[in-house]
Amino acid sequence: MQAFEAVVNYFEHAADQLGIAQNVRKLLLTPKRQVEVEVAIERDNGEVATFVGYRVQHDNARGPMKGGLRYHPEVDLDEVRALAALMTWKTAIVNIPYGGAKGGISIDPHTLTLRERERLTRRFVDQIHDFIGPDRDIPAPDMGTTAETMAWFMNQFERYHGYSPACVTGKPVELHGLPGREEATGRGVGILTVKLLGRMGRLTGHPTVAIQGFGNVGSHTAKFLVEADCRIVAISDAHGGYYDPAGIDVLAAIRHAQKNDGSLETWEGAKPISNAELLELDVDVLIPAAVGHVITKENANNIRAKMVVEAANAPVMPEADEILEQRQTVVFPDVLANAGGVTASYFEWVQNRQHYRWGLNRVRQELDHVLSEAFEAMWETSQKRDVSLRQAAYVLAVERVARATILRGHQ
Ligand code: NAD
Repeated sequence: MQAFEAVVNYFEHAADQLGIAQNVRKLLLTPKRQVEVEVAIERDNGEVATFVGYRVQHDNARGPMKGGLRYHPEVDLDEVRALAALMTWKTAIVNIPYGGAKGGISIDPHTLTLRERERLTRRFVDQIHDFIGPDRDIPAPDMGTTAETMAWFMNQFERYHGYSPACVTGKPVELHGLPGREEATGRGVGILTVKLLGRMGRLTGHPTVAIQGFGNVGSHTAKFLVEADCRIVAISDAHGGYYDPAGIDVLAAIRHAQKNDGSLETWEGAKPISNAELLELDVDVLIPAAVGHVITKENANNIRAKMVVEAANAPVMPEADEILEQRQTVVFPDVLANAGGVTASYFEWVQNRQHYRWGLNRVRQELDHVLSEAFEAMWETSQKRDVSLRQAAYVLAVERVARATILRGHQ
């Protein structure tokens, strides 16, 4: 829960910087709409099972609301509300014409069969289709949901509203999806890391990088950074880490993981180390790309990396953030670092609405363009106001949303 409170804190700091009045703060923090619905399905054995689903639409001042759909046992209204607000700031930082939303169902999806998951998704759409859609609120995959979930979602939505591929993003590439969507978050982390290295004057001489997590985000980040002449000296997954000061053969690691159900376990390409050791390596850049809360006040003083790029959501706890700032370790905030995914979702939505497909090269070029502009704006704000990159990102986001809110008027 602390990480969510932190988001409100970061908002308040930004609002202080901008001199935003209390009544406008309240307007910006209060969700437009939050709903809780019953999702009842018939299990394969004929029994009825009932779950609770949520959708929170936080803000639409800058455009239709955008945010993931999560199937996880810990989903509740508080969590969804916090994540919806986070999406408002994230879409504002990358300056795409969206507001923020989030949704979920409180369920462990592994306890359901494929057909049960499909029924669950369709019944949830039955409950919420009236207030979502391409111009209102566009869900996307999140924890526990996949491209397949989005395909069922779209199909059910279309039963009510007709042809509407833009009602969700993250769809299968063969079904109105986007080439390059899968790699986009990791590629974005890579693009932004290279930008940061450039600004810190450390782009020459093969900067060293350690990456925690070798799933979708971690592996694509590693691949991009190798192509950008960085030396990946350590990688890891839930089973442990691997270290080679001369540079890991990232493509060999990816091939191993692909053959082993995504796992690096049993890989013999580098020296085994623990995840805790990986975090404390003396490298130019540390990229936590696995889970949240891995850098805490207990280990923050042991972090030797010059830069920490938050590819995962909230890997650095707020107390650790303060320690790292005192130690002059640059922290690149998650709210921009992992925004490549939502940016690619935006491209998918644009193409669905235009009925015009871009190729992979164009997707990559546009991703680079959007993220680079966001990076420059954040960097400039940080320099101008003499604040951390995280504070600069929030100042930028809150300023954009507040400005749009005021410009729209309230009569
Ligand atoms: P994933 O499930 O594909 O991969 C997660 C990786 O982390 C796996 O290699 C797993 O073994 C490893 N891992 C899990 N627990 C670990 C632990 N305790 N210590 C070390 N490694 C551990 O997930 P992903 O899509 O790559 O997402 C990674 C992070 O990025 C998550 O925090 C997610 O919320 C965030 N994120 C992802 C996206 C996206 O588009 N995929 C977008 C924004 C943010």
